Amino acid sequence: MTTASADVLILGAGSAGCVLANRLSADPSRRVVVLEAGGRVTDPDMRRPELWPFIQHREYDWDYLTVPQPRLAGRQLSWARGRGLGGSSLLHANAHMRGCRADFDRWVAATGDERWSWDELLPRFKAMESFSGGADEVHGADGPLSVLLPGPDLVSPLVQDYLAGAVSLGIPRIPDHNGGEMLGATPNSLTLRNGERMTVADAYLDPVMDRPNLAVLTGVVVERLRISRGRVVGAAVIVGGERMDISADTVILSAGSIADPLLLMRSGVGDPDVLEAAGVATVVESRGVGKNLHDHLLGAGNLYRAAKPVPPTRLNLSESMCYQSAKGLGETAGPVDVVVGCVVAPSASESFEPGVGLGEGFTLLFGVTNPTSRGELRISGPSVDDAPLIDPNYLDTEHDRSMFRLALERARAIAGTEAMAGWRAEEVLPGQGVRTEAEVDAFIARAAITHHHPVGTLRMGADDEAPVTPDLAFRGIDGLHVVDASVIPSITAGPVHAPVLAIAETFTASYA
Ligand SMILES: Cc1cc2nc3c(=O)[nH]c(=O)nc-3n(C[C@H](O)[C@H](O)[C@H](O)COP(=O)(O)OP(=O)(O)OC[C@H]3O[C@@H](n4cnc5c(N)ncnc54)[C@H](O)[C@@H]3O)c2cc1C
Repeated sequence: MTTASADVLILGAGSAGCVLANRLSADPSRRVVVLEAGGRVTDPDMRRPELWPFIQHREYDWDYLTVPQPRLAGRQLSWARGRGLGGSSLLHANAHMRGCRADFDRWVAATGDERWSWDELLPRFKAMESFSGGADEVHGADGPLSVLLPGPDLVSPLVQDYLAGAVSLGIPRIPDHNGGEMLGATPNSLTLRNGERMTVADAYLDPVMDRPNLAVLTGVVVERLRISRGRVVGAAVIVGGERMDISADTVILSAGSIADPLLLMRSGVGDPDVLEAAGVATVVESRGVGKNLHDHLLGAGNLYRAAKPVPPTRLNLSESMCYQSAKGLGETAGPVDVVVGCVVAPSASESFEPGVGLGEGFTLLFGVTNPTSRGELRISGPSVDDAPLIDPNYLDTEHDRSMFRLALERARAIAGTEAMAGWRAEEVLPGQGVRTEAEVDAFIARAAITHHHPVGTLRMGADDEAPVTPDLAFRGIDGLHVVDASVIPSITAGPVHAPVLAIAETFTASYA
């Protein structure tokens, strides 16, 4: 049964999908239909930025699990993904970081397209935000998304000393993370409005919900694409247990870096070997679908028992990520290699029970910003209910392993500064006994957790192997575009939400 038709059909009302819905329905002659598996999320905990680590596994989380990771002591990592209007912006930690010039130089190298350079993305970043510091050369003040750079009245006293400690080591103090260079110490910019989480649905979708040419349908699970003679003609969906077809001239995949490739594979689009193993006939061969999966890992953590009570966060617990170069602490420009973040609470992976309560300790998270390990995502069967096989292949490369060791060294160096002396009673994790390379690697294998930034499973590129073109068209299927975290060819140094929004803003700016 065909129930609806659209000029543009957007699959997924997540971070990118909400931007697409807003910008593309601005033209009243274009009928835009958005399909979202989840609904409107009203959980009051979702609004409180400090609760973000505790709202996972609820009904608005797809709640994925990776396959066992050999370099992480065989552990399977829990991967949260938002399900509902706003997508993963319902669950994320609100950190707003654009990435740096060097990140986008890599995107230009992959695509040959200057639209993906820092200079050309800058107007998109400015257009999306209402920055608390007002408009200037690099910030915007009229965009839909509130971006707060917290001042000393909000930043934890612990984090203020952490910043001073970093600076005492020669790390530059930078105004914020969003000026094009990220090397340095600064509080995190956060997508908060009046102290509460602002989702992308709040920012982009709700203000335009009454447009007559925009239909946002919730509780609609997209099973697969409908493809006819090399062209996408719509989607096959499940609503309340019933199957339906929706027709469209153009389809935009924005179901995120996990769901997009799964959806394509269920539709018979992908690597024939993978499809055959899952019992799906190949319709369009595209060997890059689901490949190039990568993510940021964090060590959780370099954990300290505090010498005095740690006051509760007034922000989101994770208040400052300090980005650094492997070349030296004093570097001010260029690529980022490692990050050390200060969390205003004891935070450890599921492997540890550090015995430090809230208010009694703090953690320095540490990680690799531009990992070179690449994994893969596959379907295990033809149904939407078949659990995906998610293999990020963490720490596969020596680059990533050595950078992770360096990141822990840098965390310990900041914690050891005079500025932090008043807070530091004892290093609980990994503990003073953990020093040699083998000991550190064994600790990291048990401590590493996802930073929640999986990207790249439908990378854009100038080469024919890339599933998506630099214009974000899917190679081999007319009328199909991909616009979300999947297309990122190589991850940016920081959290990826702002770059995902910039991708959607860039796509819509040139959409005819
Ligand atoms: C716990 C957590 C913390 C994070 N913290 C940060 C942070 O602090 N800063 C930052 O920059 N980034 C952070 N991120 C990452 C960031 O939120 C994501 O990278 C970004 O939101 C991805 O956007 P997207 O549009 O690609 O996908 P999503 O926002 O995930 O949207 C995909 C949408 O598609 C829908 N969908 C999926 N499959 C189907 C289907 N079959 N049918 C219909 N609908 C479907 C989903 O329900 C969802 O609404 C975090 C993520 C998580 C989960």
